Amino acid sequence: MNPKFAHIKHMDINKLTLNFPDDRERKFRDYYFENSHAATRISFVLVALLYSFFGYLDYVMARENMVLFWEIRFFVVLPVLLTVFFLSFIKAFKFFWQELMFFSYLVAAMGIITMIVILPNDFVYSNGMLLIFFAGYVFIKLRFILASIAGWLSVIIYNVIALNMANIEFTTILTNDFFFVGANLIGMFAAYNAEVFDRRNFYLYLQIAQKNRDIEYINSNLEKTVERRTKLLNMRNEELHNEVARRIVIEQELISAKEKAEQSDKLKSAFLTNMSHEIRTPMNGIIGFANLLREAENEEELNEFIDIIIKNGDHLLNLINDIIDLSKIEAGILQIQNSSFMLNSLTKEIYTLFANNHNVVEKRLSLSKNDGASDDDSYIITDRTRLKQILINLINNAVKYTEKGSVEFGYTLDNEYLEFYIQDTGIGIDEEHQEHLFERFMQVTLDNTPKKEGTGLGLAITKTYLKMMGGNIKVRSKLKAGSTFSFTLPVEFPNKQNIG
Ligand code: ADP
Repeated sequence: MNPKFAHIKHMDINKLTLNFPDDRERKFRDYYFENSHAATRISFVLVALLYSFFGYLDYVMARENMVLFWEIRFFVVLPVLLTVFFLSFIKAFKFFWQELMFFSYLVAAMGIITMIVILPNDFVYSNGMLLIFFAGYVFIKLRFILASIAGWLSVIIYNVIALNMANIEFTTILTNDFFFVGANLIGMFAAYNAEVFDRRNFYLYLQIAQKNRDIEYINSNLEKTVERRTKLLNMRNEELHNEVARRIVIEQELISAKEKAEQSDKLKSAFLTNMSHEIRTPMNGIIGFANLLREAENEEELNEFIDIIIKNGDHLLNLINDIIDLSKIEAGILQIQNSSFMLNSLTKEIYTLFANNHNVVEKRLSLSKNDGASDDDSYIITDRTRLKQILINLINNAVKYTEKGSVEFGYTLDNEYLEFYIQDTGIGIDEEHQEHLFERFMQVTLDNTPKKEGTGLGLAITKTYLKMMGGNIKVRSKLKAGSTFSFTLPVEFPNKQNIG
């Protein structure tokens, strides 16, 4: 066999019955029925018609037996054939169609055999038998094995009946047998080949179906794999995007941290240079004038030198205090300590402090305070020390940078916030400098103002304190007209009974 068809050889069918040994047989019978039952129906109609038309031969050839023959044709065989034809329209036909055909085959054959033995010398009827064989093997779609059994059974029946009939010559029987056996052999051969061919087709059809299923399975697997991979790829892509975005953010943070570090480094160096200069100035003043004390010519001069020493000492103390505060903030050890106290007593304390301030006294500034609540209503809870320090810083600035006029400070109090203001009629700050006023390490040098004793740290420290306490500060100022610094602070109120 051609190797291309080698696999068909392994179809594994029974050589005699042609049956498949397994479930394929059931499937094949379904398949065979599907492919054959239309042809079966038509063949039954045709066979029935032929069987009827051959009645005409009875009329021509066997007038004396015509009635019996017609009875066989029209009352026995034809009803059987037509019944099978009509049964072919019901659903259950599929389950017994081969058996029905086998049965009708035998009925039709018996009809002809009857005619042959009644008219043994009339070969017309023997030819009829050949037609039966022919129809059985190749026409009505009876399977090979059943067609063969039916064929040979008909031959045997004919022989049994014919041999028992006294009026039939042996040679006549033998002649018929020659044809009948020949016809059956040829028919079997044809039917065998036809059925093997059908089964081979079916077998290939099964294999193709299986291959198709395999391909579909592979395809669906492939699709799933592609889908999975695509998902994975998209995920990786997104991760990569996120990673890139994250790195960009980190890079930007690093750059800005570096810039900040550089800036802070610069500011720190500048600050240190300033500080050493600032510290040296009052120190020189103190040491210089202390040395001069001995050489003072009169009491007035002595007092003047002592004043200078005290002033420089104060300034140095302020400076050192600022530096200490700043280092505490830097080190993160500065803590807010809340206590409850009467705000009006604090403003009074500060007022008294500044009423004697040398700036106020020397420049005859009018200092006023404006309490926003009665003494009783001015109890609050916050960090008193820090608040005092903030107020001192701001009022100190106000009196420092005001040559003439007034400095007023006061507050308003609502349920949640304390709002303080410090207003002066001083030199004012231009807009450009207002922006940087609160920056740490940033000493604002105003070109248009005379240099005052200051550290350049007061506002930065003030703002940091306020931030730690949850507050905020802002400034409104106009050059040569004055400034108003105002800050808000969230406060709580104590239960008045608990206050000692
Ligand atoms: P300093 O110790 O130098 O006063 P601050 O941080 O307290 O440092 O203030 C920074 C700068 O802001 C001051 O040098 C001054 O030029 C300006 N400034 C602060 N307060 C006032 C004010 N009330 N009027 C005008 N200028 C002010």
